Amino acid sequence: MSENDDVARDLAHKARAQKHKQVVDAKIAAATRDKGLLLVLTGNGKGKSSSAFGMVARTLGYGRKAAVFQFIKGAENVGERTFFASHPNVIWEKCGEGFTWETQDRTRDIAAARAGWEKAKAALADPDISLVVLDELTYLVTYRYLSLDEIMPAIEARPEMQHVVITGRAADEALIAAADTVSAIRDVKHAFRDGVRAQEGIDR
Ligand code: ATP
Ligand code: MG
Repeated sequence: MSENDDVARDLAHKARAQKHKQVVDAKIAAATRDKGLLLVLTGNGKGKSSSAFGMVARTLGYGRKAAVFQFIKGAENVGERTFFASHPNVIWEKCGEGFTWETQDRTRDIAAARAGWEKAKAALADPDISLVVLDELTYLVTYRYLSLDEIMPAIEARPEMQHVVITGRAADEALIAAADTVSAIRDVKHAFRDGVRAQEGIDR
């Protein structure tokens, strides 16, 4: 390849990059609003709760407060809880007794979910809390422990700048419609199916 070819390729690359920058810059310039967001992280792939807990770290990084409500799997421990629970700007509530197939007690599961939801509602009314994570909330709707008619008004009436992240598989269409940002994480592969148990720091 000649030196001229290299020069031509560099120039073409520069022109493309400049055009790309113009497009990106125009989009950034057009996004001028601030808003408390509703995010839904759903799908069968791994990465929903850990992403939500990552946003807790981001929030704390700005000196703000976060509240996490762990529904359904409240009995399980995750590394993030151990790490964040003692932080002065974090409220971390376990509001579940475990998976339904573990507890096998619908009445107790519903009571735990409802008690958790009452605490979550208080956080959703507190303007000092910048981020509320409702981890595995979608299952409360799927199992009919709680209806969206009860959940949505509290979310809609929250402080203007408060962000809410809801995680869990099979998010209801109404929840997806109401959300500002929705990611459906696709399950491509998971080591569990290869016989690897949950690894500390990765899976819990
Ligand atoms: P994480 O907490 O790791 O972000 P998640 O919130 O997306 O995962 P959950 O359905 O809440 O997923 O399940 C949590 C646990 O189940 C984790 O140990 C995770 O690695 C595991 N897990 C998640 N998705 C799958 C899957 N598709 N197959 C097997 N195990 C999974
Ligand atoms: Mg999860």
